[in-house]
Amino acid sequence: MTEINGFKEIFGQAVWPQDKLFEVYAFVAEVEKNDDNCLILLELLSLDGEQVSPAGIRGSSRTVETFFQVSDVAQLEQQWRVLSLSQRAEGELILSILASLGVNEGVPYSIEGVKQTPEFIIADYQSPVGDEASEEDISRLFDISQKSQKLAVLDVGQGAAAFLYSQHDFPFPLVYFDIGGGCYPNAHTFPSGGVRWCFTQKPSIILSHWHWDHWAGATYGGTRNVAGPCAATWLVPPVSAGPLARKFANKIRASGGKVIYWPAGTSFIKSGRLIVGNATGKSWNDSGLVVLAELEDNRLSLIPGDAAYIYLPAIMQNKPLKTLLIAHHGGWLDAVPPTLLPYPDAEPNCYAYCSVGDQNVYGHPKLISSYRTAGWSVVQTDTRLQGQPAFHYDAETGGTCGGIVHPPCGGTICSLILHT
Ligand SMILES: [Zn+2]
Ligand SMILES: [Zn+2]
Repeated sequence: MTEINGFKEIFGQAVWPQDKLFEVYAFVAEVEKNDDNCLILLELLSLDGEQVSPAGIRGSSRTVETFFQVSDVAQLEQQWRVLSLSQRAEGELILSILASLGVNEGVPYSIEGVKQTPEFIIADYQSPVGDEASEEDISRLFDISQKSQKLAVLDVGQGAAAFLYSQHDFPFPLVYFDIGGGCYPNAHTFPSGGVRWCFTQKPSIILSHWHWDHWAGATYGGTRNVAGPCAATWLVPPVSAGPLARKFANKIRASGGKVIYWPAGTSFIKSGRLIVGNATGKSWNDSGLVVLAELEDNRLSLIPGDAAYIYLPAIMQNKPLKTLLIAHHGGWLDAVPPTLLPYPDAEPNCYAYCSVGDQNVYGHPKLISSYRTAGWSVVQTDTRLQGQPAFHYDAETGGTCGGIVHPPCGGTICSLILHT
């Protein structure tokens, strides 16, 4: 379990009734199906709009479908419901309210009823989080990123985080691509000792999409560790999001940071060595922000978040790559095996990184053999076992050289030691 002070600093401490039946608005952030069972990740909002909490339901898909009145639990993603909850010890369907994203267990409540959500709540959350990015916002973000020569892949357990930096002598993050971490119910996969971020050069954060495992790391640790992400500029996808994202964005704004969303309808923006684009699918995974960067030896690195490769902007497809950050933690893509799988450029040191946590409950990764068949040497972050400190990678050499790049602060401010 990670320290929760940072989470409290951002989201406040929600107090839910303990002795009576009460109602909450519930937004479904993610649905994970596993045979006959499912896991539903929810973001709860109090009726007065003041309090938010993450929550989870683990149960049989049949029971969830009956309660939520859908024919397939997968249909629930990004939907809203009103839930009546009580703290009855047993019920047919149990929901756990979580004190932060970094816990594996919450406080159990019984779901006593499920109703449709009033239109005004849905409408209120229809627009993307933040302000639409202006040309100036985008060019400022690109200007800093232009100095990047290199890519680091961070070990955050079952989640994703990476950054671009200029050179070994100064491995300051210049832009983060996701700042996630193992979170409920995979909180146990987050590295022991946590991850202390470096915000010395005021890096921006490009967020692929709003699934918790791609931004939870920004809420972990003490108040000092969340201060950097809260004061940063976040470039986020142009999609509607839930109450956690909304509240986080408010905190970022109040802390001097900025949340800007990708100009809708813009397929990609290319500037110098960097292309940022918007995947063309519908789900959060497949409509995220994606990056193709020309880095080491002027070779290409692809960072697709969780998007299926068929939804990448065409300019990013079918490019021979030096480095691939494997989409969706090596799991199924849009529920199917990967098509348009990116391929290595056949020069030395081609690596595909799979960001997964040892003993994660999703059973990721599932499709590594497809990548090997495509010619990739695959590096998996789950070789760092549960309960061990993080093992971050300098992407150039796949961690095979045995070298270490120390952060300029020597580890006093951040913990971003990279392995070459
Ligand atoms: Zn995702
Ligand atoms: Zn993910």
